[in-house]
Amino acid sequence: MTDQQTADEIVDTVARWVDSEVMPNASEFELADAYPDEMVDQLARFGLFGATIPEQYGGLGLDVSTYARVIEELSRGWMSLAGVVNSHLIAAQLITRFGTEDQRRHWLPQMAEPTRRGCFSLSEHDSGSDAAALRCRAVRDGDQWVVNGTKMWVTNGERAGLVALLARACDADGTDHGITCFLVDKQPGPSSGGITVSRNIDKLGYRGLETVEMTYVDHRLPADRVLGGPGGVGQGFHWCLAALELGRVNVAARGVGVARAALDAALAYAETRETFGRPIGQHQGIQFKLAEMATKVEAARLLTREAARKLDGGERADMAAGMAKLFASETAAEVALDAMRIHGGNGFTTDYPVERYYRDAPLMIIGEGTSEIQKMVIGRALMRGDRP
Ligand SMILES: Cc1cc2nc3c(=O)[nH]c(=O)nc-3n(C[C@H](O)[C@H](O)[C@H](O)COP(=O)(O)OP(=O)(O)OC[C@H]3O[C@@H](n4cnc5c(N)ncnc54)[C@H](O)[C@@H]3O)c2cc1C
Repeated sequence: MTDQQTADEIVDTVARWVDSEVMPNASEFELADAYPDEMVDQLARFGLFGATIPEQYGGLGLDVSTYARVIEELSRGWMSLAGVVNSHLIAAQLITRFGTEDQRRHWLPQMAEPTRRGCFSLSEHDSGSDAAALRCRAVRDGDQWVVNGTKMWVTNGERAGLVALLARACDADGTDHGITCFLVDKQPGPSSGGITVSRNIDKLGYRGLETVEMTYVDHRLPADRVLGGPGGVGQGFHWCLAALELGRVNVAARGVGVARAALDAALAYAETRETFGRPIGQHQGIQFKLAEMATKVEAARLLTREAARKLDGGERADMAAGMAKLFASETAAEVALDAMRIHGGNGFTTDYPVERYYRDAPLMIIGEGTSEIQKMVIGRALMRGDRP
């Protein structure tokens, strides 16, 4: 557990930086779809690329509860910043929990520094929710693996120097040993060996950082790139579902951060905008809306904290993380729309940040498993007897 004083100091430091550097500048970068180099450098100086990496490997070793609070603050300023660290830390989480000691010693210090940025590559064109249907293949050839296939939606894919790649491990005769996680070493940039960034996807929101399609053509990997060593063949799917619990808490915390930013903006606007001789916040109709928004934000935060607490305690957290992610992401979308309504016509312009919250919120309903998938996870847990 991160001690309370240290946790509060880290969260306060990030929150102050968000207020002074991120809030005033985020929309400019986001609308231009420009990568925020200086902000990302500051995330590195804060040590956030190593946020959940254990201290013995050079990370901050934050518990999930503190990490979630940091992500909430970043997302209050600009949700894309949370995306810059999320897939990196999912890859680090896979290595921390399931890698061999050699793999941990090799990759984690570089990722914490970060001289090497990571990304997480599970999805394909025809397999998102049904992730186990993925088709990318790694065929064993002597002491190497030869990778072929196209992966979709790889956030941070171009700038990454390490891809946690999920592919089917096969023998040359086609025998399929199951989905396996490979640690793919690449040069940051549009191509590296047999890997090409075949498309940079233009997005409604979550702009400023890249989400790409990546194509592998006869890309060769040494045998030691199987996560967990030889025993890791066929374990990748099961392991990545476990690592995604951290990703789901991250997305829930992002939802809380965006919803909070939308609520704060709506409150500020309601105090100053006047109609019928008084600030609109004095009209009961607006107050009721603000009350509902604030209640949802608080409920989303409490669910997120509970999921983080369970992960920190080593408890099974699939249902808790699913509930937090489901509720917080839907809350972000609802509260962003309400904030836009409260802004009237101004909410529909780029003069105010609420339009960005409105565009960013739907990603959280989709990424790390859609709301329907969260309901499946929660429903299955209930049917096997788990209770919140
Ligand atoms: C901006 C962005 C960044 C991303 N970053 C990454 C990344 O870094 N790495 C990565 O691996 N992936 C990433 N993803 C992929 C993301 O995880 C998938 O988009 C998501 O899991 C949904 O998959 P899909 O898009 O294929 O939708 P589909 O699976 O095709 O789903 C379409 C619709 O059908 C619904 N549906 C599907 N199955 C069922 C069912 N059984 N019952 C009821 N409804 C169902 C879904 O909920 C959804 O509404 C990213 C996506 C986006 C948009």
